[in-house]
Amino acid sequence: MSPEARADGRARDEICRVGASLFARGYAHATAGNISVRLDDGFLITPTDACLGALDPARLARLDAQGQQIDGDRASKTLSLHRRIYAADASARCVIHTHSTHLVALTLAGVWTDDDVVPPITPYYVMKVGHVPLIPYHRPGDPAVGDAVAARIAAGVAAGTPIRAVMLDRLGPSVWSESPASAMAVLEELEETASCGCSAAAARPR
Ligand SMILES: [Zn+2]
Repeated sequence: MSPEARADGRARDEICRVGASLFARGYAHATAGNISVRLDDGFLITPTDACLGALDPARLARLDAQGQQIDGDRASKTLSLHRRIYAADASARCVIHTHSTHLVALTLAGVWTDDDVVPPITPYYVMKVGHVPLIPYHRPGDPAVGDAVAARIAAGVAAGTPIRAVMLDRLGPSVWSESPASAMAVLEELEETASCGCSAAAARPR
């Protein structure tokens, strides 16, 4: 087996493992969310309307480096946004998007600031997640989202504080990292910090 085929197989298994783990623990629900991996010669992404809890490695969408589908079920239309993220951040090898409940609730209630949807309430959050800007609402798949996300990534690099996540207003977070496991860890930390912030606000005496 060629090294490319081995990398493809490993990435398929990791996408399915991470999807099942996120689904089992309530970070993803129904058919919301998607996961992609950048390979040396293209991309893998979860199919459109697939449930992250029940992915089949053999049916993931495989695309070439230009984003043309080669095989598998029809690619999630979010691929265009994921490709903008990979183009803007050379270190990104995996992008995960979910509709995590507390983060979406936060955008409805009002985020902390447009540059940081969650305040830096714990040291671990600051270390592991960092700044997470809000991307204004557009319907899912609108190319304007890709422009806004690419601009935010470039601004983070220019400021010396690269970002690894954005929050799409009313939709959910998109996070990226060098592997599916580390992207999942960023997503969990972000959602748990939002949940913690919501609980603290609810517990505050009025
Ligand atoms: Zn979505």
